[in-house]
Amino acid sequence: MDMLTEKQVWEWLGTIADPEVPVLSIIDLGIVREVQVQDDESVTISITPTYSGCPAMDVISMQIRLLLLGNGVKNIHIELILEPAWTTDWMSESGKAKLLAYGIAPPQRRSDTPLALFEEDTVPCPRCHSENTTLISRFGATSCKSMYRCNDCLEPFEHFKCH
Ligand SMILES: [Zn+2]
Repeated sequence: MDMLTEKQVWEWLGTIADPEVPVLSIIDLGIVREVQVQDDESVTISITPTYSGCPAMDVISMQIRLLLLGNGVKNIHIELILEPAWTTDWMSESGKAKLLAYGIAPPQRRSDTPLALFEEDTVPCPRCHSENTTLISRFGATSCKSMYRCNDCLEPFEHFKCH
């Protein structure tokens, strides 16, 4: 058998969907910060929660354990890294494209700009790309999404908030 590599572990982790945004993998979201392979049976994974106290992290940790166990990794250490805090800047470009294809407007602004914590000025409609949209609710199905409505095609849509 080939030696277990970090690249292999990253590939496995790329198959785990985020529980809150199933169209994205935990790699797309940038939740996995580091993978260390000690030997063929021992791996340490460092993850940063998207939101502190997010119950999805328990689900994600369990999924990582099951996946690695299924691939013969017996000793799995999962470390939570809370600093620096996760930001939407860590979301991959392919992750943003997947969000858009799924009908969720991806974050537009980088979180390190002064206004990032406020709502973004213009969130284009993921369906018709109109910029004539209205914020309906700051909180959508989960705390990381807000609800908008397009004034042109009249469809409501979710926006993944800058964070
Ligand atoms: Zn529209």
